[in-house]
Amino acid sequence: MAQTSTYPIQCPECKSQQDEVLYDSLDVGKEPELRKQLLENKLNRIKCNSCHFEFHIDKNLLYHDSKGGWMIFHSPSTMENADTAIEEFDKVLRDMKELLPSGQELPPVDLVLTRVELVERIFVREAELDPRVIEYVKYLIYTQNLDKFMPENSALLLNGQECNEENLCFVVQDLETRKLESLLHYKRETYEDLVELLVQDGELSLIQQLFPGPYTSARAYLIQDEI
Ligand SMILES: [Zn+2]
Repeated sequence: MAQTSTYPIQCPECKSQQDEVLYDSLDVGKEPELRKQLLENKLNRIKCNSCHFEFHIDKNLLYHDSKGGWMIFHSPSTMENADTAIEEFDKVLRDMKELLPSGQELPPVDLVLTRVELVERIFVREAELDPRVIEYVKYLIYTQNLDKFMPENSALLLNGQECNEENLCFVVQDLETRKLESLLHYKRETYEDLVELLVQDGELSLIQQLFPGPYTSARAYLIQDEI
């Protein structure tokens, strides 16, 4: 079930205070309309009682799809402050594990830092793709196209709606202008080969060596590599 709490919120326009009930977690398996609200940017959205300004509150949110059997934890943060988000993530995992009946295991839980990443990851999980292999594909696309776009100023995002049986589709987004610049296709067959090569059972699969942390991002990997 969804969990909510009341938070004191200050309007960014007129600075007046009001208390608002916001979502801390939601289960779209039980309440599918919350998925729609989130994708339409209507979840945790507030209207100021004084000046009627509308704004969105970015806060920690646990997105659970109990039908699909996976979760995504959104801890709003910049890439530079990912360590704090990872600490929050670890705490949420510990709390959830404590509440589990013994013998039961948590479903996979992903960590994302931005709302854009959250929406993308929902599509990746819903399409039953492996998020780490998708990031590895992005890593390959970045390194093969450094003359066209750089990880510092361009995000590569899976476009779930344009994927088909033959191809996965990615869009390049200019991070400054937020504009979507071009579409890239990647053969699904090559993706499947990578899954076979990189993902094995057990602790030491190749993909875990490439992306060991809970925050899996080709962009972060490439940018930090440069630092
Ligand atoms: Zn206001």
